[in-house]
Amino acid sequence: MKYLSTRDKTLRLSASQAIAQGLSRDGGLLTPETFPKLTPDFLGELRGKSYAQRAVAVMKLFLEDFSEEELTSFTQAGYASPTKFDDPQVAPLHPLTDQASCLELWHGPTSAFKDMALQILPHLLSASLVKTNEDKTVCILVATSGDTGKAALEGFKDVDRTKILVFYPKDGVSDVQALQMKTQQGNNVGVCAVHGNFDDAQTGVKTLFSDEKLRADLAGRGYFLSSANSINWGRILPQLVYYISAYCDLLNLGRIQMGEQVNYCVPTGNFGNILACWYAGQMGLPVGKLICASNSNNVLTDFLATGTYDKNRPFHTTMSPSMDILVSSNLERLLFALSGQNDKEVAGYMEQLKETGRYTVSSAIRARLAEDFYGGFCDEAKTSQVIAKVWQDHHYLIDPHTAVAYQVMEEYRQKTGDTRQTVFVSTASPFKFCDSVLHSLGVGQVQEGIAALDQLTQVSGRPAPAPLAGLKDKAVRFTESVDKEQMMDVVLAMLK
Ligand SMILES: *Cc1c(COP(=O)(O)O)cnc(C)c1O
Repeated sequence: MKYLSTRDKTLRLSASQAIAQGLSRDGGLLTPETFPKLTPDFLGELRGKSYAQRAVAVMKLFLEDFSEEELTSFTQAGYASPTKFDDPQVAPLHPLTDQASCLELWHGPTSAFKDMALQILPHLLSASLVKTNEDKTVCILVATSGDTGKAALEGFKDVDRTKILVFYPKDGVSDVQALQMKTQQGNNVGVCAVHGNFDDAQTGVKTLFSDEKLRADLAGRGYFLSSANSINWGRILPQLVYYISAYCDLLNLGRIQMGEQVNYCVPTGNFGNILACWYAGQMGLPVGKLICASNSNNVLTDFLATGTYDKNRPFHTTMSPSMDILVSSNLERLLFALSGQNDKEVAGYMEQLKETGRYTVSSAIRARLAEDFYGGFCDEAKTSQVIAKVWQDHHYLIDPHTAVAYQVMEEYRQKTGDTRQTVFVSTASPFKFCDSVLHSLGVGQVQEGIAALDQLTQVSGRPAPAPLAGLKDKAVRFTESVDKEQMMDVVLAMLK
């Protein structure tokens, strides 16, 4: 199977080339040409397997230049329990009501769903470098607003032929998030604070990527730079697995019969997670409606309702920060598929987005969007109410991202009367967003920093995930903080 650029489909790469390269040189996203089919027999076999085995079976269909032994060793390392994941099922499904189940994707080392992919991507990337005869070591540069940086550090730590350097804004991450990064272990990792906000850190990293002189200098030292964000196919592919796995679990629980359709509701930012579910549907997983849930940054809700994507709007800072996004990069892959792989049409939309901040899709694409998707959003006040209500009604604690999904799922069901089984996706542990959760539960005096972890444990009677609870005993390794202009010195000092 070949991988095509969404902006030029004459470009055809192998899986390992696509993963090693990340982004296509024309700016497009590398995307599989076809989708292998999941038969009922295949799904039936997966039912009896562990999560790691399910991941091998699904990923093998897309990665022809990787052996089953390789994939087995990657998934055994990445999804190991209890060392990496604190639940032996890795991505357990929690039935909440007769019709709704919660897919918990936060049992990994950093308590957010990014682990599901970032525990596998480093292995895929490291092996891809060997397969493509790349003799240099890759250095992953990340500017993070919180979750991605830590998940990438955990995924890449001590992986062969890789180094990782994460820059975070000194004033832009929570105390817990900063401590998670400053205490990072591993021999190939670096962490540095940048004076300023997320934009400063991100602009700094972009400047480093586009610096030709730096590239040449690093090449001389045996390094090249790459990124770990969700445009890499190696981050999307591991995400298909848990949608298929959840379907198997619903079968095993007797909640559905083979072939019966299931709706999935996904709290969405960059559109990578929900796209993975749509791809699983293209493979023949019986996906009913795909419910796309946004917070107050509801550009996708409007897009799905009108066919016009328009990023010219105010940016809201919310308590579900991983969804505070105005340009959802992975939407480009969906447009490529829905246009019948029309690369010129997609390139045109992306050009308009760059020039004017908006584009309107064809009526053909709009019709297909309406068939497969429903879009909705949930504001801040409602998000808090939902956290409290789900706790009161079900004694089940959810984080703000998950609350957004829950609310939009409920809205969809009330509006349409759709009674199919629905899986809503939980992307972060409530302990990762202690203060928002405590405020939502009506706690008056919320404590500062990581003391809030203990407070949420007291209020809820639930233990905090071990990696978060253990933070207070960990040694701080990284204390450096620099101005944006000094970021290059940090890179050069690390890649001596
Ligand atoms: C990244 C993230 C999201 C958004 O996922 P996308 O794939 O970017 O749509 C939602 N919730 C949490 C907690 C995240 O970290």
